[in-house]
Amino acid sequence: MKKYKKNFVMKKLLHITCICTINLQLDSYFDLEARKGKRGGAWMHNWQAHCTDAEGKEQLASAFVVCNFPASTKTNPSLLRHDDVVTLFHEMGHAIHHMLSTVNENEVSGVNGVEWDAVEFPSQFLENFAYEPKVLKLFAQHHETDETIPNAMIEKLVKSKNFLSASGMLRQLEFSIFDFKLHTKAYKGEEVQNLLDAIRKDTALIQTPSYNKFQNGFAHIFAGGYSAGYYSYKWAEVLSADAFFAVVDEGIFDSPTAKIS
Ligand SMILES: [Zn+2]
Repeated sequence: MKKYKKNFVMKKLLHITCICTINLQLDSYFDLEARKGKRGGAWMHNWQAHCTDAEGKEQLASAFVVCNFPASTKTNPSLLRHDDVVTLFHEMGHAIHHMLSTVNENEVSGVNGVEWDAVEFPSQFLENFAYEPKVLKLFAQHHETDETIPNAMIEKLVKSKNFLSASGMLRQLEFSIFDFKLHTKAYKGEEVQNLLDAIRKDTALIQTPSYNKFQNGFAHIFAGGYSAGYYSYKWAEVLSADAFFAVVDEGIFDSPTAKIS
């Protein structure tokens, strides 16, 4: 990819145009640092999708990547924690998914019209690269000494990611099964708690105290388009792990599997 950088509209907004080897032009805009009054969190916004209009005119894809990384100062650049790097890779996964589309129909181009199961697939796929020494060593340096991140530190990052991950998986299964089953009939009153207790018998290693009312605040049950779709987090993880290991086995970079045909 060829990259061009130029200032765009706001001081902190970085605009990158990429021309890919498949001759597709993409426009991505980055608003990465936190500032007063900015909405919290991180997200990708699919501003325009690649498509062709009725006259055959091509519309190029463009996307915004918005994060809330520590603000740079006159003396320090914005210093990212590893968590922040993972977040950036995640949102870039969404952006690349959206912008690399060659589909000509707006409604199903890029991230438009993608089934819920697969929306988090490319983003979680890219997250995996943020733990790879070959990738981290390309940019992870001490900002004063320029020392490249040592292997021992990368090993610790990987270990901390894996620590208690099986327990985390069981918790996600509990949420997903609860979400599925709750949508199979109209549960009333105590039935909701009884349903959750029965699921926890299969999934929980540690007994949840009875005062815990997690279900009352589990917004995904109805909000954000997730209804009976919470499982998609875990499912996308499975898809992304399969895809990632297919590439890893070939050495991460220049993998024939990764080539766009
Ligand atoms: Zn995401």
